[in-house]
Amino acid sequence: MEQVMATKMRCINCGAEMYAGGICESCDWRQGWLPVAQASGGSTTFVAEQRHGFIATSIFLATLVGLIGFVAGIASGSAGGAFFGLLVAVAGVAAWVKTHMGRLWIGLAPGDKAAAWPGVLAGGFIAIVAIPITLFCIAILKAATPQVR
Ligand SMILES: [Zn+2]
Repeated sequence: MEQVMATKMRCINCGAEMYAGGICESCDWRQGWLPVAQASGGSTTFVAEQRHGFIATSIFLATLVGLIGFVAGIASGSAGGAFFGLLVAVAGVAAWVKTHMGRLWIGLAPGDKAAAWPGVLAGGFIAIVAIPITLFCIAILKAATPQVR
């Protein structure tokens, strides 16, 4: 794991070493920006990174399901379930903070990206697992609902 505080990273635009969260001294790039065009003079135009929908959704799911798992674990007296839920929720919150609510990803410093991965992965996994389960539940509910004559 890399150090979290005052991490150094390479500018994604020009490769110069810079502080994560700071501004690149040689080309003015900063996290959350993407280089779009390079003028012949060497100056670069930047646009803000778009919110990453899949990443934001995954992090949201991880946080939500983690919290539900935590509460359900406590309610059912399952220490393991509560602990696991808390773990997932904490990973989700960490990912929110690191990615600035899903706005930062491409320009993230490697250490911050590593810290955000568990939340994104957990959420992505939940999304993949939740879709078939939801479809299955709907099918069961439909089959169990008495037919209206
Ligand atoms: Zn730069």
